[in-house]
Amino acid sequence: MKKKDLNQLKKILIQQLSDLLGRSDCSLDGLNVTDNNISDLLDRASQISEREFSHHLCSREKLHMRKIERSLQDIEEGVYGLCEQCGEDISLKRLNARPTARYCIDCKTQLEKTEKLTGIDAN
Ligand SMILES: [Zn+2]
Repeated sequence: MKKKDLNQLKKILIQQLSDLLGRSDCSLDGLNVTDNNISDLLDRASQISEREFSHHLCSREKLHMRKIERSLQDIEEGVYGLCEQCGEDISLKRLNARPTARYCIDCKTQLEKTEKLTGIDAN
């Protein structure tokens, strides 16, 4: 993946995480997300979802936060955009539509068939 595309996706993920954090009724005044404080943001996100806001955030938001955190960690580790199932690149089009995607479209289609049976959201 091109560095430019990766940076763009990273921005989207950070924005989404920031939105989720900002939406919760909490003391995150002045939360200002930049590339420089991403680790701080991730720290806050994990603290928040673990403790203070466990009652404020619905489980769906928490789940989404977890996915974003994981994707951001993948970016830091340089493994973002690779399918967890087959190891192939996930298409940029798919990542733009769903930046937290962890599977390529082929594997996702396979997994969705399984999901329908198990009810697990593999994303
Ligand atoms: Zn795959």
